[in-house]
Amino acid sequence: MSKQTLSFQAEVAQLLHLVTHSLYSNKEIFLRELVSNASDACDKLRFEALNNNALYEDAPNLEVRVSFDREAKTLTIADNGIGLSQQEAIDNLGTIAKSGTREFVSKLSGEEKADAQLIGQFGVGFYSGFIVADKIAVESRRAGLPAGQGVRWVSTGAGDFEVEAIDRPQRGTSVTLHLRDDAADYLSTWKLKGIISKYSDHISLPILMHKEEWKEGEDDKGGGMVLTDDWETVNQASALWSRNKKDITPEQYQEFYKQISHDHEAPLAWSHNRVEGSTEYTQLLYIPAHAPFDLWNRDKVAGVKLYVKRVFIMDEAEALLPVYLRFVKGVIDSADLPLNVSRELLQESRDVRAIREGSTKRVLSMLEDLARAEKEEGASDEDKGQYAKFYAEFGSVLKEGLGEDFANRERLAKLLRFASTTSDTATVSLADYKARMKEGQEAIYYITADTLAAAKNSPQLEVFRKKGIEVLLMTDRVDEWALNHVQEFDGTPLQSVAKGAVDLGKLQDKAEKKATEEAAEAFKPVLARLKEALKDKAGDVRVTSRLVDSPACLVVSDDGMSMQLARMLKQAGQKAPEVKPVLEVNAEHPLVKKLEGSVHFNDLAHILFDQALLAEGGMPDDPASYVRRVNALLA
Ligand code: ADP
Repeated sequence: MSKQTLSFQAEVAQLLHLVTHSLYSNKEIFLRELVSNASDACDKLRFEALNNNALYEDAPNLEVRVSFDREAKTLTIADNGIGLSQQEAIDNLGTIAKSGTREFVSKLSGEEKADAQLIGQFGVGFYSGFIVADKIAVESRRAGLPAGQGVRWVSTGAGDFEVEAIDRPQRGTSVTLHLRDDAADYLSTWKLKGIISKYSDHISLPILMHKEEWKEGEDDKGGGMVLTDDWETVNQASALWSRNKKDITPEQYQEFYKQISHDHEAPLAWSHNRVEGSTEYTQLLYIPAHAPFDLWNRDKVAGVKLYVKRVFIMDEAEALLPVYLRFVKGVIDSADLPLNVSRELLQESRDVRAIREGSTKRVLSMLEDLARAEKEEGASDEDKGQYAKFYAEFGSVLKEGLGEDFANRERLAKLLRFASTTSDTATVSLADYKARMKEGQEAIYYITADTLAAAKNSPQLEVFRKKGIEVLLMTDRVDEWALNHVQEFDGTPLQSVAKGAVDLGKLQDKAEKKATEEAAEAFKPVLARLKEALKDKAGDVRVTSRLVDSPACLVVSDDGMSMQLARMLKQAGQKAPEVKPVLEVNAEHPLVKKLEGSVHFNDLAHILFDQALLAEGGMPDDPASYVRRVNALLA
């Protein structure tokens, strides 16, 4: 391959422009990013070498070396990991491969200050080098390729980069940063060591630097530290999760999280355990504070990395946690799995099943702890808000578990939170609700709707409001589906207020029941005419006691699909069974009383029906006829 000049992918050019034109409060992250790439490259070599030991060549000890040259103003991060072939250098260092990074870049506003802040926190991998360098030279050779197939990649971070073939006996990659004048302070052992111990202590392989020694001054010059030819390890070089819990600071846990998750915000909680027994493994699991860009991407279904005896095996190991816990990040290190385990094998392994069960329980107890802190006296406001924060980000995903994870359904049900007629925010748990139930109340009442406003103002709630009975307001798209799996909570059935005839059970006294029955009896002739007039629209028409201020409302039969779910299916282009709702009328309402003897009976009947539909967020089949009928009456 002769020397060629190639252009960066448009997104890279955009990113580089931002990187090089923004001032940083947090320049030093470039080192974390480059060391982390070097460590990933070593992990990859170790993994590939499982099936091909020859890849180690004559250098079996994987390591990263950080060195600098004060004269030349260069800083070099070198690894003896997997390396890059010529084509890989072009592909990987000229484009943005990771979808997370790509989406992150698309979120940048173009407003320098805000973006700089974001980039500083997120880190942009290799390209962060340009925060401190005006030129980067990469030399590399992929493990297993001959020395003649090395590659040199050079760029000033403007629109393009140069690549050429070089001879490179040693395997792996060295990244040399030609530092900008204002970054000369990184040419210091002390400074570099400080950054490495801050960000990279937990990296499991050694990071080496030249040892420094005190040298006495000569003649009239004072003494000073000089670099020697000896190397020393400057990090702890043991995988964070394999260390003893009590030796790890919260900052180290958080730093590790940021590294594995590419998240700039600290996690809400973490849990680190060594599990012993028939299956042995270590788990370090984190609950993020906010949802990633691609939470809803079903292809990306896991956030946990699998290691076997400290050897990295795979990212996004979906078999280790159920899909509904895909937001959890972390590491699981198994002592029992074979090193050459594949994704397919994982699905069938008994050990993996045990790990998944154990890890699921661990995550649920982390969530329970967060939820408990909400109510704890003496907990700080921040601690109290943690679960609500979690729920706002991941509540919908957690609900998927009700249908997926039968064994933990009860624990999951306790973690649910809803808005209700007494709370506009989703903070009411089923247990809270139960504790507040009225004397004689036999069900947990709820209503589903598209929006909180529609739910709150729904006519179906009138009698509940009048009697001071709390109703849960469910407005999340998955609620309807999720509730199919929660028929009862702690022995109390859940009941939709929009399904079936309202039965308030013991909440209604004898006199009320009798009045309803009498009204129904007297209303029978009108009812028969209504049924006839609306026979194409309504499955049935009946008198109800659930309404106070509204003339009518729609409900579905007990076993029917709710109107809201049917609408959702239709919107999603799916076939929904024809739902003919039941029209319930309030015999006490003036409009309903007017029906008898009205010459406009037919129009009034249709208006009653269509209005009831509108009130719950639906749309009349023929809106123009509705308008014409109302106008005729108004005129
Ligand atoms: P990523 O977040 O994927 O690491 P980077 O921009 O940091 O993104 O790097 C892009 C790609 O370049 C990496 O995925 C990897 O394939 C390759 N790469 C970067 N640094 C090294 C290295 N030291 N050794 C081998 N490959 C590397």
